[in-house]
Amino acid sequence: MLTINEIFHSIQGESTRAGEPCVFVRLTACDLRCSWCDTAYAFHEGSKRSLDDVVATVEQYGCPTVEITGGEPLLQEDVYPLMDRLLTGGYTVMLETGGHRPIDRVPAAVVKIVDVKCPGSGESHRNCWSNLAALAPHDEVKFVVKDREDYEFAREIIARYDLPSKCASVLISPVHGVLDSRTVSEWMLADRLPARLQLQLHKFIWAPTTRGV
Ligand code: SF4
Repeated sequence: MLTINEIFHSIQGESTRAGEPCVFVRLTACDLRCSWCDTAYAFHEGSKRSLDDVVATVEQYGCPTVEITGGEPLLQEDVYPLMDRLLTGGYTVMLETGGHRPIDRVPAAVVKIVDVKCPGSGESHRNCWSNLAALAPHDEVKFVVKDREDYEFAREIIARYDLPSKCASVLISPVHGVLDSRTVSEWMLADRLPARLQLQLHKFIWAPTTRGV
């Protein structure tokens, strides 16, 4: 059984797959409280659903890409058989994780989008640094930045762990409505930062607080 907050079909708003149709499976609960979290409704709201029910709901959308997100999806043990079931079903499976839980049990074929929490989140002390040694070449690492201090933290971690050599993309995501995307773009260009600017596409298509998109 899994506690599911919502399952919906939308346009992928983040990662290198931004713009592609995707089914999202949002799991309930998170053990972090990032200052800029935009899915606090997933901390507690949800209902118990069987793996069969979740997989059948995903199948109804007829979409080949599925992202498992949260909350923090790695808090629920049955996320592992869910990933196995979806891979067996032929889906491209993505997993969005906060980066504070070990990723070593995630099936190798799953594309992991792993956060590194910056100081402005209030949760940077929770980063599971060993995750950066467990990245697969198809994975992506994301830094959500709210100010210059966060940006400089990200820049330092990218260099210290040589992240561009360890994963498919390093994403710099300014907090929507807080840090101007032009400002962070200019910082990246000035530093020749080996990373990709990520804007949360769904917040430009729909109102930023819209759920289920
Ligand atoms: S890890 Fe994700 S879901 Fe949890 S508080 Fe941070 S942003 Fe919100």
